[in-house]
Amino acid sequence: MTHQVLVTDKVALPGLHPLVEDHSFEVVSMDDSSSDEFAAALAAADALIVRSATKVTAELIGIGTQLRAIGRAGVGVDNVDVAAASERGVAVFNAPGGNTIAAAELTVALLIAVARKIPAAEASLRGGKWDRAGFKGVELLGKTLGLIGAGRIGGEVALRCQAFGMGVVVYDPYLSEERADELGVQLVTLGEVLDLGDFISIHVPLTEETRGICGADALERMKPTAFVVNASRGGVVDEVALAAALHKGHIAGAALDVFEEEPLPVDSPLREAPNLVLTPHLGASTAEAQEGVATEVAEKIRTLLITGDVSGAINARDLG
Ligand code: NAD
Repeated sequence: MTHQVLVTDKVALPGLHPLVEDHSFEVVSMDDSSSDEFAAALAAADALIVRSATKVTAELIGIGTQLRAIGRAGVGVDNVDVAAASERGVAVFNAPGGNTIAAAELTVALLIAVARKIPAAEASLRGGKWDRAGFKGVELLGKTLGLIGAGRIGGEVALRCQAFGMGVVVYDPYLSEERADELGVQLVTLGEVLDLGDFISIHVPLTEETRGICGADALERMKPTAFVVNASRGGVVDEVALAAALHKGHIAGAALDVFEEEPLPVDSPLREAPNLVLTPHLGASTAEAQEGVATEVAEKIRTLLITGDVSGAINARDLG
């Protein structure tokens, strides 16, 4: 029996080798998920693989009457109606590990970019100036990195920053002492991260606990020389409070890759805030990560369709 797998949103096809190289799978790639052709292919598909563009609504899931799995080549499943999938017995898989290094490397890039004012200096140079005095930065050596969350990405950021000679303190109530020892980091309270951090980098999921964790009070408590980096999820930083803190000089600078609302609204106060580096959610945007997340979901879908194993599904508990 051949399993039909429908792929959309320009998922990196080389990453789908676990399915493409197995003759019991037929992989069909279509980019326009609103077309009739797509609906016809979905009606016959055993699995659907998307990135973030296609909204996998209850209606879409309803068209896929043969569907057994939905794969999201990436971490967040905000574009998938997981409850509707569970109701129909469709497993939903994501790929939380495939873009860890990409996100960790972007975090370090942002940290250095804001510490050395690289984007502002570049814009000044392109604007016809040769201003060296205006862009004096600070070094990482001997500074303290304060991490809020040290899972996959935070852990990799810690290791990379240690290579720059930084000490690392971590607030993560769910991280074991054993893992902290392995990473060579010191577990502390949130208040201590805010007090001690020369650079504070956030690597948590967006939950009721973490929403606004970097708000006005936290920003007020940080050193005036501190830099904040957020490449995790919009919503963990209070954007209005951050813009105000930057204008008032309560902290030295910040860098953000993720926002409460994406795309970032044209009238966002962040666009006018000083000492702020902004990137448009590029954390996972490397060739390697795009292949990595595709491979991760492809392997999970292959296992499910061959063995029926749903253990890696994010809705495994809700599948009857
Ligand atoms: P992870 O699950 O491996 O790590 C998250 C860590 O946060 C865990 O160690 C957990 O214990 C900790 N945590 C949870 N609640 C906490 C709290 N209240 N206070 C402090 N720590 C808390 O996740 P990850 O793969 O490292 O991803 C981290 C974040 O980065 C996620 O939000 C993810 O969506 C995001 N991400 C962004 C990009 C991007 O493109 N910018 C790419 C990949 C991942």
